[in-house]
Amino acid sequence: MDISHIEHIGIAVKDLSKAIEYYEQVLGLKCYAIEEVKDQKVKTAFFQVGQTKIELLESTAEDGPVARYIEKKGEGIHHMAFAVKDLNKALNEAEEKGIQLIDKQPRGGAEGLNIAFLHPKSTFGVLTEFCEHPEK
Ligand code: ZN
Repeated sequence: MDISHIEHIGIAVKDLSKAIEYYEQVLGLKCYAIEEVKDQKVKTAFFQVGQTKIELLESTAEDGPVARYIEKKGEGIHHMAFAVKDLNKALNEAEEKGIQLIDKQPRGGAEGLNIAFLHPKSTFGVLTEFCEHPEK
């Protein structure tokens, strides 16, 4: 599988600008990018914390996955993303081991990464993302 580190932790928030203020004013981190990911109906804000990023997610649509998540579970940790060397290989390996995949094929995520999600039913309740830096 070849996971190198936790690439980011995704956190569902209702109000991106208020959440950014907390991360900057209280935790002293710097938001270095804000990006809309149309495919996932979210606006994201990124903070670098060592090797790992915090990815804040605000829904851009009432029926978006993050809006539905907040409706059901409230704000909080939405997913965890592992950096993998070879995304296709990691997906095949997970599927062979009986893990339910949300994405059978990689798709484009924020920051130009190739990403795919594993179903939380198969991962002890944690929506799990694999991501691959395409240039590496
Ligand atoms: Zn993510």
